[in-house]
Amino acid sequence: MSIIMFLGRDVKEYKEKSLEIIANAIENRALLCEFKSTPMQIHMHYPRGVKRGAGKADRDKIEVYFVICKACDVAHGHALLPDFLLPYKQYGADEVESVIIDSATQAVSAIDTEASESTARRWIKQVGGRVVRAVSVLKAIFMEIGRAIAETRIAPGHCYGELEQVLEMAPCKLRYGGNKLGLANMWLGRQSRREYI
Ligand SMILES: [Zn+2]
Repeated sequence: MSIIMFLGRDVKEYKEKSLEIIANAIENRALLCEFKSTPMQIHMHYPRGVKRGAGKADRDKIEVYFVICKACDVAHGHALLPDFLLPYKQYGADEVESVIIDSATQAVSAIDTEASESTARRWIKQVGGRVVRAVSVLKAIFMEIGRAIAETRIAPGHCYGELEQVLEMAPCKLRYGGNKLGLANMWLGRQSRREYI
């Protein structure tokens, strides 16, 4: 299962800083084995393509780092995914996010995106459904942490608007790359309920 974390705001910053951010996280005990609470170690990396939106149809490529635990008898580990990507999505999170936002006010055929109309439709249905679920899971997570969230404080509306409202109620600010889907994923992963968007 992937761990989603801030590893730079975009591909360029990722290439410059991700390794240092991961090394710091390991040193600061922010990447621990979930069974023994011992620090994970960088084991390997593998290439992953990133399709860019907004007029940049070409692909970027990043190296995704994989950390493993060497303290347990059975080896286990996690891929570390930057918050500007969504699991199993070729496009960056910004492109998916902008389609979700536009879908609140525009017909799918009118949405300006590099993705095909069928891809945009799939995102709205699948990612939109995950955003709806994330809103309720995040409410539960924030309540567990001790922040009571009255239902009435969230104005019902489009799923993305509700997500923005619930994220505003987070008990603390997390450093993130600017994408709210990515920020939601970081919170979802923190509580070991990795039902990512
Ligand atoms: Zn372990």
